[in-house]
Formats: sequence, C-alpha cells, structure tokens
Amino acid sequence: MVTVNSLPNVLTQFEAAAERLGLDDGLRRRMLACDRSLIVSVPTMMDDGGLKVFTGYRVQHNNTLGPFKGGIRYHPDVTLDEITALAMLMTWKCALMGLPYGGAKGGIPCDPRAMSRGELERMTRRYTSEIFLIIGPDMDILAPDLGTDEQIMAWIMDTYSMQRGVTVPGVVTGKPLLLGGSLGRGQATGRGVYYVAVEAAKLLGLTLEGARVAVQGFGNVGRTVAHQLKQEGCRVVAVTGSRGGRYQPDGLDLDRLVAHVAGGGRLEDCPEGDRIENTELLEVPCEILVPAAVSGQITEANAHRIRARIMAEGANAPTTPMADMILRELGVLVIPDILANAGGVTVSYFEWVQDLQFYFWTEREINLRLREIMSAAFQRVHAVAEQHRTDLRTAALMIAVKRVTDGHRLRGTYP
Ligand code: NAD
Repeated sequence: MVTVNSLPNVLTQFEAAAERLGLDDGLRRRMLACDRSLIVSVPTMMDDGGLKVFTGYRVQHNNTLGPFKGGIRYHPDVTLDEITALAMLMTWKCALMGLPYGGAKGGIPCDPRAMSRGELERMTRRYTSEIFLIIGPDMDILAPDLGTDEQIMAWIMDTYSMQRGVTVPGVVTGKPLLLGGSLGRGQATGRGVYYVAVEAAKLLGLTLEGARVAVQGFGNVGRTVAHQLKQEGCRVVAVTGSRGGRYQPDGLDLDRLVAHVAGGGRLEDCPEGDRIENTELLEVPCEILVPAAVSGQITEANAHRIRARIMAEGANAPTTPMADMILRELGVLVIPDILANAGGVTVSYFEWVQDLQFYFWTEREINLRLREIMSAAFQRVHAVAEQHRTDLRTAALMIAVKRVTDGHRLRGTYP
C-alpha cells in the first residue's frame, strides 16, 4: 500500500495555518479550490495485442505566483484525491521556497514495474497528448515522481515537441542531461533533506559526528540523504525498502548495501547487520529519522514510539496531523515535507531557467545555490515558528499561504 488518502491531512494542515493568518472564508475557499482537474482516458495498445484504457489525471491547484509545476506519478494506488493533495502541497512548497511557480500534480493508476518499455512509452505519449492543451513551459511544467523517471520525461518532452513542431525542453524537468536536463537534479531532493537536517542539528546543538540516522525508503531520496549524512560523520544505523531492510547499531556499510541491491539482491536479505521491518525502523533509537518512502507512515498508532530528535520528511505527507501533535509533545523537531524535500523542485527550477536560457551551469554552482536556498528557507521557517510559538510545519505553511494570498490580493479576482 503506497498511499493513504493524504487529502484530509493536507486540508487540516492548511486550516491550522489559515487560522493563525486570520484568513477570511472567501480566501480560504479560494486557496483550497483547484483551478483545474483534468481526467483523461489513456487507451494503450499492450504487447499482447489487447487494448487497455488507463485513467490519467492532471490537477492544477493554483497558479497565482507562476506557471503550474509538479510531478507525474505512476502507481497502482494513484487516486484523484491523492493527486489533489500533492498538487496543493506543490503550491505551498514552491511558494515557501520563493520559486515563481504554482502547484500541480498528475498521475496514472498503473503498475509500471509490470509493464514493458513499449507499453510504458505508448501510455506516456498518449497521456501527454491528452493533457497537451494545458501543459507547456509557461503553463504547466511536469517532472518525475514515484514510478516515473528521466526516460519518461524524455518521451513527454518529445511528444509535446512533436505536436508543437519545435523542440521544447522546458515543458519537463528531471529529463536526461543530453536533452537539457540539469546537473545535480538526480540528487537534489536528498541533498536538500541533508542540508536542512544539518541546520536542524546546529539549532539543537547536536554533533553530527557519530549521530545515529535511520532512513525509511532506500530509493533516490533515501540513498542520497544516507550517503551525505554518513560523509558528515553520522552512523547510518537502519535503512529499509518496501519489504524491510537492515539494522546495525554501529553503522551500516552503505556501499555494501548498494552493491547488493545493484547485483539484483533484496535489501532486506543483504548480509549486513540484522533484518528489520519497516515499522520497526521508525522506532529505532536515533538522532535523525528520515521517512523517504511513501505517505501516511507516521500516525497516532506509532508516533509515540519514535525516539529521534530530528525527523526530516523526505517523503511527501508521511505524517498525520495527530502524529504531528504527539511528536511535538515528545520534543521531536519535525522538518516538514514542503521544506525538507523542496530541493528537488528547487533544482527543477534551475533546470527550467537553464532550458529557457539555453545556458547551463556547473554542478558546483547548482549545489551551492541549492544549499543557500535550503538553509535560508530553514532559517525563515524557524524564525516564524519562534515568533508564533508554533511548530515548523505550521510556520512553513503560514509563510507559503501568506505569499499565495498576498499574490492573489495584488492580482485581484478576474474579471
Ligand atoms: P524511489 O522510488 O526512488 O524510492 C522509494 C523507496 O521507498 C524505495 O526504496 C522503495 O522500496 C521504498 N518503499 C516503497 N514503499 C515502501 C514502504 N511502504 N515502506 C518503506 N519503504 C518503501 O522514490 P524517491 O524518488 O526516492 O521518492 C521517495 C519519496 O520522496 C516519495 O514520497 C516522493 O514523493 C518524495 N519526493 C521525491 C522527490 C524526488 O525528487 N525524487 C522530490 C520530493 C519528494
């Protein structure tokens, strides 16, 4: 099960921020309403000669501050509600980071692992054609998310470009370098999580040397954070994938785990430390916990067993509002998703800027700019949290929602 329905949680979090900002009912309704939700049929020829009709979604939540921006998810549990929640989170994330974007998300309920490359390509191209009218580099820019990768971005970019009759790299980010992708995009989200975790550690006076780290999800984000924190001197004591993982209180040999998985082995079977289940990972004694897998993992049922000092949300919406309250009482510093995992969309923004200018930056420049933006955002959120005596999530949402509502006031209501 990849997702719970995150929409009620995202709405509850919004209400907490709206209340503190004193937003009136009209503005609240404006902020909660999606500008556009498109549902399309995606007929796809399968390899066995049969025709399958998938359902595709593209939800454009709000574009007050700039073109819509957000990923495309291919997973069996994709629903319109989940995509709507993620689109809304994108609006807040971009606003919080000061990026000139609104928020969107798309997806298709499907199991990409059970599909051939040809089937995936045909489904992706037809989906792109179906949403063609509402996407574009100045309208809505797509990106990878769970189950999609740079190859899928290349097919989207090509389909869009063929229909326009010109090559348009800026319609997607997270695409291959050769087609206008950006250096550093692959590791950007994990690096961002690492940068804010370092800021949080400084705030708490926590020494990173020897600090214990547990990471749920050993994919793109989880691996990068684990490697970065290890380089900083931390001990990565536990990592899990969808079927469990490994635990070693003295610190895991990450290279060995990576080599095991690259060699076709399962993470949970690697002869390194002891086997551990996903639920157990969340309860491991550690200084830094990084949920970097899927939504809805930390709930009122397990939050009181968390023994971390910092929790940096790599995944989107991993924590329910009830769990948030429990963690706050326990004194766990939660760095919320819209801040912690914003490194990905920030470097996506760099990619889009480079595409529009046809001028590309070095990886060093990208990582330095990313660190600067992530650290400044953390400081801003912390200052607002102190000022309003609230948690980092509510503070981050207050900054984000205020930016969008200020933008709305300046633009006014059309007509
Ligand atoms: P990924 O597909 O590369 O990795 C996901 C990992 O989670 C895999 O190791 C998978 O085995 C594991 N997993 C799946 N279900 C699990 C479960 N129930 N319990 C534990 N582990 C499980 O994905 P990713 O790109 O690393 O993204 C991880 C999370 O970060 C997602 O929630 C995604 O929405 C979020 N995120 C990613 C980016 C990005 O740029 N990649 C940006 C922002 C947010």
